[in-house]
Amino acid sequence: MTAQLIDGLALASQKLQSLKQKIETLRLTHPQPGLATLLVGDDPASRIYIRNKARACAEAGVCSIHHTLPANSTFEEVVEKIESLNQDPLVHGLLMQLPLPPHLDAKKLTQRIDRRKDVDGFNWQNLGALVEGASGLRPCTPTAIMAMLESQKIPIKGAHAVVLGRSTIVGKPVALMLVERGATVTICHSQTRALEAMTRQADILVVAIGKPRLVGAHMVKAGAAVIDVGINRLADGKICGDVDFEALKEHAGWLTPVPGGVGPMTVAMLVENTLQAYCALIEK
Ligand code: NAD
Repeated sequence: MTAQLIDGLALASQKLQSLKQKIETLRLTHPQPGLATLLVGDDPASRIYIRNKARACAEAGVCSIHHTLPANSTFEEVVEKIESLNQDPLVHGLLMQLPLPPHLDAKKLTQRIDRRKDVDGFNWQNLGALVEGASGLRPCTPTAIMAMLESQKIPIKGAHAVVLGRSTIVGKPVALMLVERGATVTICHSQTRALEAMTRQADILVVAIGKPRLVGAHMVKAGAAVIDVGINRLADGKICGDVDFEALKEHAGWLTPVPGGVGPMTVAMLVENTLQAYCALIEK
């Protein structure tokens, strides 16, 4: 069986075009939506992610303003910056790029972002709303995964979805979203015994573990939908996912590539979250 590839670049481009149209209409009567990005330190990978986010914002007509703080900033200095951006009326979305330098408590600092501007969806009020199935800003990678499944009309209701990874950024929230849509969900992680026996049951397999090409064809039911979230840099500088793409492309039913899969769609969902935050703030 030849897998249907789910093209994250094409889907992200469509999403950004549709957001651009909505923003153009809103701008006839309202100010421009603004996203502030905050980087503490100078991590090269983080700088690339922020550049990609700024590019997507520009494509959709969102004004992105980047702020940096030195790597040796204190907790209080970062809080002060977050609070000034919380107060800034031109900022509708606020994203603090992770990881932070090790001396800073990322969980505590994330909670200082105004939940109405929390476009990453990591604030506990937004995560609580997700648990409840209520509206709120939802984490971007899980919403990207759901949009990718929906784009192919992959049946979710009644399906057995297996999620590898239990992070707050990907694994847990995507499991909740799949349950919300009627899937029966199994979450696997580093302590799971007989991983292969679990993954082979999956109609939908979401892999977010950060282990290059760990998931091979022997772990996947033929015809399953496989969403590869992993981003791993190999010794030769190339990027690969957590799934063995070559082995799966003639075995899975649907498959996302890395790069060009969940990554670009995640960025498009960030812009969508910025628009959602903006609409809620201007309607106040
Ligand atoms: P994390 O690093 O916080 O956690 C990894 C998870 O994988 C843990 O829950 C751990 O228990 C589990 N795990 C580790 N080894 C395992 C194994 N052998 N078998 C089963 N489970 C195992 O994870 P994260 O932040 O969710 O990131 C996961 C991957 O997804 C990373 O490669 C990251 O770069 C990537 N990522 C990509 C995007 C995107 O936009 N495409 C967004 C977020 C994360």
